[in-house]
Amino acid sequence: MAMKKKKSTVPGDEIITLTNVCKAYSAGAPTLKNVNLHIKKGEFVFIVGDSGSGKSTLIKLLLRELTITSGYINVMGYDLSRIRHRKIPKFRRNLGVVFQDFRLLKDRNVYENVAFAQRIIQKSTKEIKRNVPSILAVVGLAGKYKAKPKQLSGGEQQRVALARALVNKPTILLADEPTGNLDPKNSWEIMKLLEQINENGTTVIVVTHNREIVNAMQKRVVALKKGVIISDEEKGGYIDED
Ligand code: ADP
Ligand code: MG
Repeated sequence: MAMKKKKSTVPGDEIITLTNVCKAYSAGAPTLKNVNLHIKKGEFVFIVGDSGSGKSTLIKLLLRELTITSGYINVMGYDLSRIRHRKIPKFRRNLGVVFQDFRLLKDRNVYENVAFAQRIIQKSTKEIKRNVPSILAVVGLAGKYKAKPKQLSGGEQQRVALARALVNKPTILLADEPTGNLDPKNSWEIMKLLEQINENGTTVIVVTHNREIVNAMQKRVVALKKGVIISDEEKGGYIDED
């Protein structure tokens, strides 16, 4: 019998593909409607939009925390409607995630919070001892290994969360309002770190409400409104709703 040629469903340099994606939480109106989004390897993308517009839902679909209601979604070559449950941990290994509320282990110090991510993927103690200090230096926390989260400022806590997200060298970094709890100075510092991480090859997707930063950074901006992508622009600005 002749071998069937394996059909490629996305172009080679595309790392995230959503085609006509709808997501409804219940029988009511869908939260995301007919979303089409194509992101290439190495891009930096801002996702903006009012509260309730579906930004976090989109992030959760990319993480396969939620499944789509209809359409097609592919992340890093994984068709997320068909991925088997036992393959999900392997898929997630290549994703780093950061949230607004840091989500650190409160009873563990900085070093342990970051090392934890490496233990989950069974890195050896030797590798952990090499990788954790090196990523803590990248985020500017070289002197804070022993501090517990409550001894740190918000900006420092977010740097720990960022180090934890990055220590396993993810292909894609997803950040859902990473500066939502930070003052302007710390917000800028976190965004500059995200930019630096992107320049080193990681695909970075950032949900944010920070109009000033979005306008200044001149990246691709995808705007959602009531579950619909209303604009998608290279070197875009914040879409004004007023
Ligand atoms: P955003 O992150 O842009 O603020 P979300 O994606 O969190 O928006 O929410 C979009 C819409 O989906 C909101 O109307 C919200 O109430 C609804 N929604 C979010 N999560 C759930 C859920 N678990 N169950 C039902 N509705 C939800
Ligand atoms: Mg949200």
